[in-house]
Amino acid sequence: MQDENALVTGASRGIGRAIALALAENGAHVTGTATTQEGAQQVGTLLNEAGFQGAGEPLQLQDPESVSALLARLAEQDRMPTILVNNAGITRDNILIRMKDEEWDDVLSTNLRGVFQLTRGCLRGMLKARRGRIINLSSVVAFIGNPGQTNYASTKAGLIGFTRALAQEVGLRGITVNCVAPGFIETDMTRALSDEQQGELRQRIPLQRLGTAEDVAAAVLYLAGGGGGYITGETLHVNGGMFMG
Ligand code: NAP
Repeated sequence: MQDENALVTGASRGIGRAIALALAENGAHVTGTATTQEGAQQVGTLLNEAGFQGAGEPLQLQDPESVSALLARLAEQDRMPTILVNNAGITRDNILIRMKDEEWDDVLSTNLRGVFQLTRGCLRGMLKARRGRIINLSSVVAFIGNPGQTNYASTKAGLIGFTRALAQEVGLRGITVNCVAPGFIETDMTRALSDEQQGELRQRIPLQRLGTAEDVAAAVLYLAGGGGGYITGETLHVNGGMFMG
C-alpha cells in the first residue's frame, strides 16, 4: 500500500484505531481523525511513534463545515484518500416511545449524512484516478435489530443501501465500495460487563468469544488490499457466526 493515502474516521479509539494501525503497517499513509484537536494530535503521535507514516486531523461528522474543512486540508496536503474508511459512528440509545428528536438527528447526521458528505468529497479524486476503495462500518444490528437502537440500526442498515447504490455508480471507474459489519466486539463497554453477562453473550456466538478490534481491522485490510479487488457492493460479516447473512 506504499502509494495509497488512507483516511480513517474515528481513529482515536477502538476499531478505527486498529484499522489505522493495520493500514499504516501495510505501508499506506494514514490520516486518522478524532473529534478534537488534542485527539487528532494523539492519533498522529500514535502512528509516528509506531514508525508509520501518518497524521491526525480533527473531524466532527455532524458538522458540514468540519467535513468541508477536513477535505480542504487534505487537498492542500495532497493527501486526498485512495482508501476511505468510514468508521466513526455514534449511538444515542433510547426506546422509540421515549426517543427525542435530537437523539434521532444526532445519530442520523453523524452516521449517515456525514458519511455521505465526506464520501462525496473524497470521490472526485478517486474518479479522476480511476481507482479507490471505500469501506463503510455497518453493524450486525442492521440485520438482527436491537431494542433501544432504532436510530442507530436505521443508519447501519442505511449504509448497506448506500454502499450498494454507490458501488453501482462507480464500478466503471475501478472503485470498490463495501461494508464491514462487526458483531460483538471487545470494547471498554463489553469489558465492563460481569463475567456472567459476558458468558451469556459468548453463548450466542458459535466461535464462543467476542471479536477484537483487530479482527475487524483484518477484514477492512482485506477489502482495501489487492485481495479485495473483485469485491464490491458486499457486506463482510465479522461476528464469530452469531449472524450468518
Ligand atoms: P468508539 O470506540 O466509540 O470510537 C468512536 C470513534 O469515532 C472515536 O474515534 C471518536 O472520536 C469518533 N467520533 C465520535 N463521534 C464522532 C463525530 N461526531 N464525528 C466524527 N468522529 C466521531 O467506536 P467503536 O466501538 O470502535 O466503533 C467503530 C465503528 O464500528 C462504528 O461505526 C460502530 O458503529 C461500528 N460497530 C462497532 C461495534 C462494537 O462492538 N464496538 C459493533 C458493530 C459496529 P473521539 O475519540 O474524539 O470521541
